[in-house]
Amino acid sequence: MDHIDPNTPPSGTGCVECLATDDGWWFHLRRCAQCGHVGCCDSSPSQHASRHAADASHPVVQSFEPGEDWLWDYTSEQLLEGPVLAPPRHHPLDQPVPGPAGRVPADWESQLN
Ligand SMILES: [Zn+2]
Ligand SMILES: [Zn+2]
Repeated sequence: MDHIDPNTPPSGTGCVECLATDDGWWFHLRRCAQCGHVGCCDSSPSQHASRHAADASHPVVQSFEPGEDWLWDYTSEQLLEGPVLAPPRHHPLDQPVPGPAGRVPADWESQLN
C-alpha cells in the first residue's frame, strides 16, 4: 500500500520536534505510517504530525494513543484500512496525556487548537 511501511518502528515515545525544544508539549500523538516519525496531533499547539505529513509527503498517520489503531490520510481526509504496523503501537502507558511529564502548562486546555 502506498505511503505505509509496516516494518518501520516508531521514532520514539514522543513528538520528535517537541522533544527537540525546551518547552514543547502535545495533546495526542500520531505516528507516520511510512517512516515512523512520531508527531503531535492537530489539537496540539505545534501540529507537528500534519506538518511532517506535508513536508515529507508522507500523508498517512496512525494514532499513537493506547487503544487506538486507526489510520488517517491527510490528503483524502479519510480513515484507511491498512496493515498492522511494527510495535510499539502506542506511547508508554505511564506517559501522561497531555505530555510529556513536567512540561504541560496549567492552562493547557485553553491552548489547544
Ligand atoms: Zn510536536
Ligand atoms: Zn514520515
